[in-house]
Amino acid sequence: MSRFNYVIVGAGAAGCVLANRLTADPAITVLLVEAGADHAPGREHSSIRDPYPVSLAHPGLSWPQLTAEVGAELETDEPRLSRHYLQGLGVGGGSNIQGMVALRGLPQDYDEWRDLGATGWGWDEVLPYFRRVESDLDFDGPLHGRAGLIPIRRIHPADWAPFAKAFANCALARDYPLLQDLNADFRQGIGPMPMANLPDRRVSASMAYLNEAVRVRQNLTILANTHVDRIEMQGRRAVAVTARISGRPESLAGDEIVLSAGAIHSPAILMRSGIGPGQHLQQLGIEVVCDLSGVGQHLMNHVGMSIATYLPRHAVQPRTQRGLGQSYLQFSSGVEGAGIDVRLAAINRTAWHSLGRRIAALLIEVHKTHSRGEVRLRAADATIAPEVRFNLLADERDLARLVAVLQLCLEILSDERMNQLTDEFFLPNAALVQSMWRRNLWNRIRAYGIELAFRARPIRRRLLAQSKLDPRALLLDAEALRTLAMRRASPPHHVSSTCRMGRGSDRGAVVDPACRVLGIENLRVVDASIMPTLVRANTHIPVLMIAEKMADQISHGV
Ligand SMILES: Cc1cc2nc3c(=O)[nH]c(=O)nc-3n(C[C@H](O)[C@H](O)[C@H](O)COP(=O)(O)OP(=O)(O)OC[C@H]3O[C@@H](n4cnc5c(N)ncnc54)[C@H](O)[C@@H]3O)c2cc1C
Repeated sequence: MSRFNYVIVGAGAAGCVLANRLTADPAITVLLVEAGADHAPGREHSSIRDPYPVSLAHPGLSWPQLTAEVGAELETDEPRLSRHYLQGLGVGGGSNIQGMVALRGLPQDYDEWRDLGATGWGWDEVLPYFRRVESDLDFDGPLHGRAGLIPIRRIHPADWAPFAKAFANCALARDYPLLQDLNADFRQGIGPMPMANLPDRRVSASMAYLNEAVRVRQNLTILANTHVDRIEMQGRRAVAVTARISGRPESLAGDEIVLSAGAIHSPAILMRSGIGPGQHLQQLGIEVVCDLSGVGQHLMNHVGMSIATYLPRHAVQPRTQRGLGQSYLQFSSGVEGAGIDVRLAAINRTAWHSLGRRIAALLIEVHKTHSRGEVRLRAADATIAPEVRFNLLADERDLARLVAVLQLCLEILSDERMNQLTDEFFLPNAALVQSMWRRNLWNRIRAYGIELAFRARPIRRRLLAQSKLDPRALLLDAEALRTLAMRRASPPHHVSSTCRMGRGSDRGAVVDPACRVLGIENLRVVDASIMPTLVRANTHIPVLMIAEKMADQISHGV
């Protein structure tokens, strides 16, 4: 294969944006390399296209052998080691399987990035790129874009389904104001969850940025089913990548290599190439090209848990609303001063099947976290998945925030307005829930069977006896509340910061503000891993922003 100007590794959220924007200039050649399969525009599997997130269990759309250790110190009631951890695989990456919640984070998040050494990444500087990403179907003005490739929409409060409405009424009664636009109004309050999709279909990064018109460009080559093992170096200069095509190693050369393999795989590729913590690499017999201690360190994620309830028939979400997000409460836990740091989402329908229609949940999310984990290699062998440790709640502030949001959640669940609708709450069985994610006949039958049994109150009570939750009793027992938070804390899919951006003088930094790997020529990382700290938002839209900004900078020679 000939030499390309840019070899982009990973066709996920960031990779799709970069491939599109860089090839807008016909003089620039781009090779986009992806380990998983490609999905031709308009012929994506129906589970990818569905605006309800059903694709996450579809085989072939996530890395099969990736596991994560949640937190060794947690007193848990579930096996916490070696749980399969979802990360997108295939052209579209995480955007094929993500939940489609479309938040940007708070202006302070990006000002914090700038203050940490990410010069040029303050809120005023990233806002134009958020606007470039989106086509907001509800709002206009200086904070919004109307011409981007990703549609953003909301379900209007008047149309919220009964559980989402009851939750909102409880929040309003607590003097949280109704906020129309959570991407522009950063006060405490309740509002419609912004979603990145259309009422009848998902819009993945691949659907949006690698549509047919882009794919016919002569200067863009997409190489799917091709796993990049490592970067080839000449001294401290990246010159190519070694990839496996049908099991055979091939060298793919580029003037510049851009890693967009996501916050778990980008650091793994760097480490396999000899760029990372020297001692760790030496232990694995990898020759150290550049001792960069921050590679794979500072892994950040949010932390969450959920509480479920069985809905009366009249409270189910209408079939016409094929989406996840309805009412969403953002507020300050009060831990370490003001600022939105936690969110509570009312999910009126928790799964694609008939049982999911009858089970609603409050989804608790701590969006400002301080605990840090790490990604390390298990072996130099590129076929072995990296080791992921989150260390959830290792920082006391994260636990304090989780307890605060859990407390508010329980207060709302004890509220008369909520109890007029439902007063039976339980902790969902994560293993059972996940085993039923996949849309197939067996799960359809299982869901129907359980739902049928749940209709009879005595049977339902018996089946849920072990996982039953009494909000009022828990609110009186601070220790039980804390134990519950520690037992049920779980990692969402918002991984970041494993190749974080910073000043050259910052020993933990991996890339500079132009996303160039420190100490190495012709190599950048552009994806979720470069975030200096995790933003207070789900990460898809922020990653699209990062890639839009970097495409612009690269095109202007920065
Ligand atoms: C289950 C789930 C639900 C989520 N829900 C939401 C949500 O509701 N809202 C939200 O904002 N965010 C959500 N996210 C997060 C969001 O999807 C990610 O933040 C985003 O996709 C990250 O983009 P990225 O470009 O950094 O990595 P990815 O999108 O993960 O892309 C990385 C790509 O690189 C490829 N790759 C990796 N290693 C190699 C290799 N060695 N060789 C070749 N290719 C390789 C991967 O296969 C993948 O296609 C969710 C994520 C998951 C997994």
